[in-house]
Amino acid sequence: MIDFQYVRTTDIEAALRAGTAPSAKYVAGGTNLIDLMKLNVERPGHVVDINDLGRRNPSLSMIADMPGGGLRLGALARMRDVAWDARVRERYPVVSQALLLAASGQLRNMATIGGNVLQRTRCPYFRDTAMPCNKREPGSGCSALSGINRTEAVLGVSDHCIATYPGDLAVALVALGATVTIRGPGAGDRLIDFASLHVVPGTHPERETTLRPGELITSIDLPPLPAAKRSLYLKVRDRASFAFALASAAVAVDVQSGKIQDARVGLGGVATRPWRSTEAEHELIGKPVSEHTFREAAEAALAKARPHRDNAFKVLLAKRTLVRALTEVTT
Ligand SMILES: Cc1cc2nc3c(=O)[nH]c(=O)nc-3n(C[C@H](O)[C@H](O)[C@H](O)COP(=O)(O)OP(=O)(O)OC[C@H]3O[C@@H](n4cnc5c(N)ncnc54)[C@H](O)[C@@H]3O)c2cc1C
Ligand code: SF4
Repeated sequence: MIDFQYVRTTDIEAALRAGTAPSAKYVAGGTNLIDLMKLNVERPGHVVDINDLGRRNPSLSMIADMPGGGLRLGALARMRDVAWDARVRERYPVVSQALLLAASGQLRNMATIGGNVLQRTRCPYFRDTAMPCNKREPGSGCSALSGINRTEAVLGVSDHCIATYPGDLAVALVALGATVTIRGPGAGDRLIDFASLHVVPGTHPERETTLRPGELITSIDLPPLPAAKRSLYLKVRDRASFAFALASAAVAVDVQSGKIQDARVGLGGVATRPWRSTEAEHELIGKPVSEHTFREAAEAALAKARPHRDNAFKVLLAKRTLVRALTEVTT
């Protein structure tokens, strides 16, 4: 374990100032950061514990109704609390399901919404400091390209990194069109679409988000969306529990008289970032509810897939997962 300075405060501005120190990292539930520190993958010089910020800023850990019908999830709200919230379950079932299919009960008690969406890839080479990895050490190479790449991504990949974004919640959030509120040191709030939070690796896999140094996510807003009431998260994994997705689909569909009025599609387990498929949505909207429509949407969603040696199976798996999710949500 490396030496680091530890700061814990109830004052958000003090936390933000501490967060700008060189190689500072915020810690919320710690279930990802501490894990990576133990592996020597993360080596922060300063660890800024944000768990007490909710005492002076209750909105950071609350789930609150928004004017117009949306819901605000405080960044420090625990995965468990959001998953079981009656409003989330009724108005955004896809969010509740994505959370309940993620990690374990113990982890969900500890882990936060902000930390969950910012968790880092489970690429085995990223987590093994003996192996070259462009994400961990820019310019060192990508071991997964020629190594065992069964769990890696097929969408949004580059010649520098093919690591899968691992989380479940983010797939639901990108499909719903959520908004992220971010607070920077000495600055007010800035709002971005959830879809703009994570970036594809390109030539800089070490850059994973559009957050600026020291910025803190304070909340995530779920928009009022009629389709969200009829939404579903389907996750396929190697074993029935406690495993990351090989492929997953977050779908929300508004159907009137057998015709699809609105559709939202997110894919997980197959892409380098939480993946919204506007191509699939385009194939669905205005079409009748039918297996043919769903198959067309799945083909469109995976049309740009770029598999590697061991993960070609994910293309078919993702298509089938999406078709099944759409079938279940419209039945
Ligand atoms: C065995 C195991 C199985 C798992 N299975 C799944 C799974 O199936 N699906 C899934 O989705 N997840 C899974 N996870 C991951 C788990 O859900 C995450 O570790 C957890 O959600 C992270 O939340 P946290 O609050 O503990 O984050 P932390 O570890 O505290 O932080 C994670 C990262 O986010 C940053 N951060 C945290 N909060 C903020 C904020 N408000 N603003 C800015 N930066 C912030 C930290 O600096 C850090 O870089 C699993 C984890 C384990 C250990
Ligand atoms: S896929 Fe990305 S995270 Fe994995 S070894 Fe290659 S560069 Fe590193």
